[in-house]
Amino acid sequence: MDKTERKYFPAELHCHTVHSDGAMTPAELVENAAKRGYAAIALTDHNTSSAYAEAKARADRLAGFYTNSDLSAHGERETYTDRSACIRMNGVSPAYAGKARAETESAGLGVIRGVEWTTFFGHILCLYDGAGEAADWRKFKKENFDGFAEAAREKGAVLIAAHPRRLGTPVGTGCRFEYNESCFKYFSAFEVWSQNEPNDSPANRLAVKMYDGLLCKGYKLAAVYGYDWHKPLSDAKLFANTYIGAENASPEALKDGLRRGDAYAALGISAELYADGERTPFGAEIERGIRTFELKIGGGLCPCPAEPRIFRAKGTAVCRMEKASVGAYNAFYGADKHGKPETACGVNAADFKVGEKSVFEVQSGWLRFEIFGADGKPLLSASPIYVK
Ligand SMILES: [Zn+2]
Ligand SMILES: [Zn+2]
Repeated sequence: MDKTERKYFPAELHCHTVHSDGAMTPAELVENAAKRGYAAIALTDHNTSSAYAEAKARADRLAGFYTNSDLSAHGERETYTDRSACIRMNGVSPAYAGKARAETESAGLGVIRGVEWTTFFGHILCLYDGAGEAADWRKFKKENFDGFAEAAREKGAVLIAAHPRRLGTPVGTGCRFEYNESCFKYFSAFEVWSQNEPNDSPANRLAVKMYDGLLCKGYKLAAVYGYDWHKPLSDAKLFANTYIGAENASPEALKDGLRRGDAYAALGISAELYADGERTPFGAEIERGIRTFELKIGGGLCPCPAEPRIFRAKGTAVCRMEKASVGAYNAFYGADKHGKPETACGVNAADFKVGEKSVFEVQSGWLRFEIFGADGKPLLSASPIYVK
């Protein structure tokens, strides 16, 4: 399939059930995931995938689950009363409203088999289809983890760093990622955002910073969100979604999307990137030079806060450049909002207008987009595109 025909499917890649410390049975998790409108979930109980059979069986019986015909006409709406499966239109580009949701309505729910390797030095989501586990987490040490990660990757596992900057000992032993950085070459993705209110969390701000630092060092990782879903639906707090570019919502296609780096974390919106007028997947490589970028924004899945948040989107492109721009372009760049590069490798921020074309001169390295709401908090954090 042509890469331009891929679509973005909303998925939740970090879920727990009663098979570890979650409160939902596998069937309840699947039902709640379907209500939220996900195309797929990954089952990531702590160190076990024993919930898979029940979850898969329940998901297989979901055909025809979507009976709310209101959902097909959400494009013009701004607010929704169905808090369990709502779509919020944020007033940017109505033509794209709810597109992602519409694509998933007839597709049921995919269940990706996985575990959360839960260890003293970090938590890792291991999405793996095999009968056994991809590696024996009980043997992980800082010194040997790279070998286990490599072996799992060779077996086809997709590895995701979970909540890498959450508080560690003594608050949550093992929650902070402390394995050697070199292991990231075997990883496909990184949770830039985690848990409720993901755009207002110090741990997530640190995670984004760590992520940009890893990109600067040459690691290629997709940016994803992890709800770390333990309890039934809670509408009181905001949560985000991971959108994955794929041919369909099957587990294999979605894992391939993560391996390609075609994903983003977003809160209440969805997005597609166009480079020089051509739909461009995140994770793709482009040529260096003067390029025109446009992010087309649509509605996304959301928990519908009591007051819908209409925002004026503002975007920031985080890019690595070998030289500063000259003033001929309509995008400003050269420094972040504090006036200096944010990381050691010289990440610069450039303002661009969401929904409009912005011109950047891009040099070899990477470039990724973030979108902020009117309150200055991020609404979208995308995986980079790479510049040859
Ligand atoms: Zn964890
Ligand atoms: Zn977890």
